[in-house]
Amino acid sequence: MKKVLAQFEHEGVKMVQSTVSFMNVKLKNYLYFVDGLLIDTGPSNNEDELKKHLKTIPFTQVVHTHHHEDHTGTSKWIQENFEVPMYIHETGIEDCIHVKHIPLYRRLFWGSSSSFTPEAIPKTIETEKHTFEVVHTPGHAHDHVVLFNKETGWLFSGDLYLTSHPKSMFAFESVPILIKSIRKILTYDFSTMFCAHTGMSENGKEKLALKLAYLEEVQGKVLALHEKGLSAKQIQKKLFPRRTPLNYFSLFENSSSHIVTSILNEEKLLG
Ligand SMILES: [Zn+2]
Repeated sequence: MKKVLAQFEHEGVKMVQSTVSFMNVKLKNYLYFVDGLLIDTGPSNNEDELKKHLKTIPFTQVVHTHHHEDHTGTSKWIQENFEVPMYIHETGIEDCIHVKHIPLYRRLFWGSSSSFTPEAIPKTIETEKHTFEVVHTPGHAHDHVVLFNKETGWLFSGDLYLTSHPKSMFAFESVPILIKSIRKILTYDFSTMFCAHTGMSENGKEKLALKLAYLEEVQGKVLALHEKGLSAKQIQKKLFPRRTPLNYFSLFENSSSHIVTSILNEEKLLG
């Protein structure tokens, strides 16, 4: 397991990138720091380097985009060592206090999460120079939020984007819910997107629009094939014939089947 930490800066936003690689699969993670606000706390697999780094950052409040272990890995340590408010969407508090079992492959990539107690995130987060609107955007996780800054056109998007054309998803994700969340956020006026796994991009709105178009197309195809009488398994084979290494590592907790079943479940076509 190789771990690397790198730093970038853009218009006062500091980006801390950590890379974990395991069996030729490389995964990047970004946490962001702007004007006293720390957004996400990184994976615990990189905790030694992250802690060293966090000691040099004068953060005064912490926002978690959601409760997953690669976004809350050093939160317990922060809570024990710094007197700062730590926020998460109200529906994620319980997940942070009572951490559920994390499958082995996720512990290998990102490490585990330890219990900490965040408070419910307010509707807006104020820093000295900025105001961030907090927008609940479930789909990837039930407690997922993004932070929108109207004046700068920034969107801290957590795991809302990740990729424009996902070919597989986690069992806890839902395509129809994600579609609703992306539609909602596309009504906001942003351009620069700060993604927790792909970093910063200037054309964030276009990227999210591309993802929305793709997900809507997939949804249409799944429903049309179902209408023709195909089962979920047959639809999956037809639309997503390939498997990825992550599908196997994850014992199919990450699989294209979840794309199909989340669409059919929403339409209540499975039973
Ligand atoms: Zn996540």
